[in-house]
Amino acid sequence: MAFTPTVDETKCVGCEECVDVCPVEVFEMQDGKSVPVNAEECIGCESCVEVCEVDAITVEEN
Ligand code: SF4
Ligand code: SF4
Repeated sequence: MAFTPTVDETKCVGCEECVDVCPVEVFEMQDGKSVPVNAEECIGCESCVEVCEVDAITVEEN
């Protein structure tokens, strides 16, 4: 099973909570926004979805 995490850049406020919470280091901050640079590593735990206060993150099951 594979998962695809995406960040809505228009919603992201750059709090870095998702960077800290992700167990497999999917996210990296770039120009004040979180970018899922290691999206292929995602295990679908949805911790990032829960921690993001502005609902910027979506994790899709492929
Ligand atoms: S938790 Fe949400 S608002 Fe914070 S950096 Fe990640 S995507 Fe952006
Ligand atoms: S669902 Fe879990 S593994 Fe996937 S990006 Fe979010 S925190 Fe990381």
